[in-house]
Amino acid sequence: MKVLVSKCLLGFNCRYKGDNCKNDKLLEFLKDKEVIGVCPEVEGGLPTPRDPSERVANKVISSKGKDVTVEYQKGAEFALKLAQDNNVDLVIFKAKSPSCGCGLIYDGTFSGNKIPGNGVTTELLLKNGFKVITEENL
Ligand code: SF4
Repeated sequence: MKVLVSKCLLGFNCRYKGDNCKNDKLLEFLKDKEVIGVCPEVEGGLPTPRDPSERVANKVISSKGKDVTVEYQKGAEFALKLAQDNNVDLVIFKAKSPSCGCGLIYDGTFSGNKIPGNGVTTELLLKNGFKVITEENL
């Protein structure tokens, strides 16, 4: 079984703050699987650390008001190609991220409120027929 996974969940320091959110339960689940890691925001050309960003309608805007939609889209396309080239069976992404979130994301006001929705990369992968879950649905 091949699984595409958010790199921050695997322990890479690629989160906007420069840290990670390594998930031991997930690592245990992945023990006997073929794992392909990806960080769409880094692949889209954003630095680490970086300003936090949230989805606002069809755009992604940083906490300082910068439009980073193009970088998010580039990262999503990179992840889609990786998923297609490797013919992955499952995608496990970081919950609530503006790239990787699935089903629930922050509402674009940087207030911690969440709304139904998907991250930019998740949206593209779902549209292309991949099964996406988060570490919270394991
Ligand atoms: Fe993790 Fe995805 Fe954010 Fe990268 S883009 S830090 S993989 S949640």
